[in-house]
Amino acid sequence: MNKRFLFFTACFASLLVSCGGNEKPAAEVNKDSVVAVSATLPDANSFHDTVGGQPTALYILKNKNVSAAITNYGARVVSLIVPDKNGNPTDVALGYDSIGKYIHQPETYFGAIVGRYGNRIGKGQFKLGGKTYTLARNNGPNSLHGGKKGFGSVVWTGKQVDDHTVELSYLSKDGEEGYPGNLKVKVTYTLTDSNALKISYEATTDKATVLNLTNHTYFNLNGQGSGTINNHELRLNAGQYTPVDSTLIPTGKIEAVANTPFDFRTPTVIGSRVDNDNIQLKYGKGYDHNFVINRTAGDKGLALAATVRGDLSGIVMNVYTEEPGVQFYGGNFMEGTNPLKNGKRDDHRSAFCLETQHYPDSPNQPGFPSTELKPGQTYQTSTVYQFGTATK
Ligand code: BGC
Repeated sequence: MNKRFLFFTACFASLLVSCGGNEKPAAEVNKDSVVAVSATLPDANSFHDTVGGQPTALYILKNKNVSAAITNYGARVVSLIVPDKNGNPTDVALGYDSIGKYIHQPETYFGAIVGRYGNRIGKGQFKLGGKTYTLARNNGPNSLHGGKKGFGSVVWTGKQVDDHTVELSYLSKDGEEGYPGNLKVKVTYTLTDSNALKISYEATTDKATVLNLTNHTYFNLNGQGSGTINNHELRLNAGQYTPVDSTLIPTGKIEAVANTPFDFRTPTVIGSRVDNDNIQLKYGKGYDHNFVINRTAGDKGLALAATVRGDLSGIVMNVYTEEPGVQFYGGNFMEGTNPLKNGKRDDHRSAFCLETQHYPDSPNQPGFPSTELKPGQTYQTSTVYQFGTATK
């Protein structure tokens, strides 16, 4: 890994030199690219609307090499354009080209901040302070990603701070989707000089509640809509994962990945074991599991969670987080029914998500790290998606 990381850093340095801030269309930069890309930011006018009486917009973040488009509808990442190994701008985030499509297909969670509770709460119920709270069941018997109208389907208040930064705020009222407490949430997206998209989360509440925020960007490092991600190479910095039942609720056990198809401790092609005869893969219809990020005891700072390399583009993404877990979802429920930017479609397993988080169903799992937030406490966490290139 160290060798690979050094190489990545070296490539990143050469990227800084070679791109020099020129944002030319892909075809002009390099005609020999192996990946057909045409990465331009969506038209901001297609995001100006009023949803539930509130204005929606598109915010653009830029540095010399990378650009990102974020909408305040669901605080979603709409586009993330990074250079591939030939310097060609490549949009690695799945998304739609207009606000209308986000409103009509909210359950895809493309690019969304999900909450109050990212991933599942078993049977849509949990106990806190002796009281039982009941949530909407929107995923079989369970509650998924905050319920019927989670944070990915509401309009946030957006404030562009500068070319690199946008702040999005939302007040989730006491009782919204069944969760207790008025919760004030702020998410800040920052495009750093080191070609990283940093997501910082902050929240306070006036009643004890549970909270598990994450970002649900669907990535394809060869370019959104460019085919399978099963040839991407993945490394997860995780020696353990949390196995699930048939409804994808953790059993409560924390198991070693060694000798299972969940062992990504060394870089491994995603699709090499995805269809193995394994009950966990059957339940998830592929990878849809929470991995326990390796950390030294007591360390709560940013830790490397994952490294992914696009097989055709050479784009490398490192994911760092302060969270204890990461949900690796391999796009198993994608069906090609949604129209992406640039006329592409969201085909089966044509994207993956790395959702940094506390473990699913923690409010019902005494053995997992707590997700309770009390009045007087401030929830603070951050995750960094950093981009560069490597040939192998
Ligand atoms: C879940 C998947 C779900 C996907 C889209 C992931 O976080 O684990 O089961 O299909 O989000 O909702």
